[in-house]
Amino acid sequence: DNLWAASDEEPIVRIEGVTKTFGATYAVDDVSLTIQRGEFFSLLGSSGCGKTTLLRMLGGFETPDSGRIYIDGQDVTDLPPYLRPVNMMFQNYALFPHMTVAQNIAYGLKQDRMPKPVIAERVAEVMALVQISQLAERKPQQLSGGQRQRVALARALAKHPKILLLDEPLGALDKKLREQTQFELVNIQERLGITFVVVTHDQEEAMTMSSRIALMHDGRIEQMDTPRRMYEFPATRYAANFIGLVNLFSGYVTEHEDDLVTLHSDEAGCDLQVHHSQPLASGMEVTVAVRPEKIRVYEQHRDLPNRIHGVIEEIAYLGDVSIYHVKLASGKTIQFTQSNVQALAEQPLTWGQEVALGWSADSCGVLTL
Ligand code: ATP
Repeated sequence: DNLWAASDEEPIVRIEGVTKTFGATYAVDDVSLTIQRGEFFSLLGSSGCGKTTLLRMLGGFETPDSGRIYIDGQDVTDLPPYLRPVNMMFQNYALFPHMTVAQNIAYGLKQDRMPKPVIAERVAEVMALVQISQLAERKPQQLSGGQRQRVALARALAKHPKILLLDEPLGALDKKLREQTQFELVNIQERLGITFVVVTHDQEEAMTMSSRIALMHDGRIEQMDTPRRMYEFPATRYAANFIGLVNLFSGYVTEHEDDLVTLHSDEAGCDLQVHHSQPLASGMEVTVAVRPEKIRVYEQHRDLPNRIHGVIEEIAYLGDVSIYHVKLASGKTIQFTQSNVQALAEQPLTWGQEVALGWSADSCGVLTL
């Protein structure tokens, strides 16, 4: 692979060893990543992890201290925003209050001195796309939050950028509207085939929308993967904790034969078995990660190799499932979930009850970081 030659396989975005500091803060710390054409790519992480700074560098609103940024094979590191084939939708939407919706959307195209008929055509096209044609003559203050979000999206799309950067695009919307708009965004992205790069701190949102996620932590990329792999195979304790619920048991390796690892965990109060293909030395300290829905009530599943005991100390009823908090003899509390339909068919579990729980060796993972 020649990394330097632009080709059809050239990723639309290539970030190489980019660092950005503000005073003593490493906002982005030696980050490298590539994004393929047509991806819906999310930068995910908690507040202050550097995701907005990375997005702003991609848009040209910040300059890296070191490292290079390539868009479509071209080194854009030193180019200003308006010379990049990129458009950004800002978190606060940044609409002009004195302009109508149509004028807001047309603004950037006018700046580019596009012919009037082309502008009119583009404005009509993107308004139809995000379903705001009927709002063309309104001013921003006459719009709901969701409608403003659509105007901002339409304006960002009107220039037909190769990449659209979106900073918390759904942040201002309430939960219901957010969930609905997530699907619409994906729908629009798929129809246009434009690459979307989205900043979000909401793991569910990133999971729902993205083809791939870069999970950031302290200016670095903790893990970069598809939502499914991120959930099923977290690479680190941090990643396992950030995405969904997880139970972590620390322990040490006692045996590794073929791809079956046996380890002892005082936290679990027993030996645990996990499938793992990479060799692990005896005595090595590791963590076993088990998602709550992989844990079964042992009574109904007597073939499970990993077995723990505890007392149910809390039950959260969520409608479709319940989350059970179980206190183990070691003092550790774990969580497991069960569908309420299944719980009814089996034996309902009650508060204070002692339970034996289990899970299979291939429904958990070993973490070494
Ligand atoms: P949030 O979700 O809260 O926006 P973020 O993950 O987007 O957070 P950034 O905004 O990229 O994080 O900030 C990363 C770090 O860099 C933080 O510690 C922040 O305080 C710092 N930082 C960002 N911009 C500046 C700036 N212009 N001047 C000084 N420090 C900055």
